[in-house]
Amino acid sequence: MFLKNMSRENKTLNLREGAFPIKMNLIFNETSLKDIGQLKDSITGDIEISLISKDLFRFEGTVRAIFIDQCQSCLKDIQVGLNFSSNLAIKDETLMMEDNSNQDQTHYQNLEYFNIKQLIEEEISLSYPNIVKCEEECMENRPNTGKEKNLPFKKIRDLID
Ligand SMILES: [Zn+2]
Repeated sequence: MFLKNMSRENKTLNLREGAFPIKMNLIFNETSLKDIGQLKDSITGDIEISLISKDLFRFEGTVRAIFIDQCQSCLKDIQVGLNFSSNLAIKDETLMMEDNSNQDQTHYQNLEYFNIKQLIEEEISLSYPNIVKCEEECMENRPNTGKEKNLPFKKIRDLID
């Protein structure tokens, strides 16, 4: 189990020891995220983890990635580019149930075997657009919608006449 965690893609950190802040430039060449597009090239992150108190850490970082996805309207292949900043509290997963602080921006994980990729992937799935379209008006641009749009006006004219 630990050997698997030590692989390059799933590197874990022990946040219970070591010097802070931890600054890293991360590159992930694959992702296990489902229901999003296909990763093009890699996910890159510029991140920093700082120690706030014994059980509280802070994550700050910028994440960039490009995915190949399909327009939900015309099914064309399109690129979805993500480039976002995150600022989260990190707490041990054992505190999740008893945490009454109501902080919505908190990431819970085992602090001794902290998997940074898991945090990055959660942030990517939160940032990924729910609606993927090649352009804002792709739906409206479809050939037969123009006709339907005119129908209500015709009805109103009929009523006036
Ligand atoms: Zn489209």
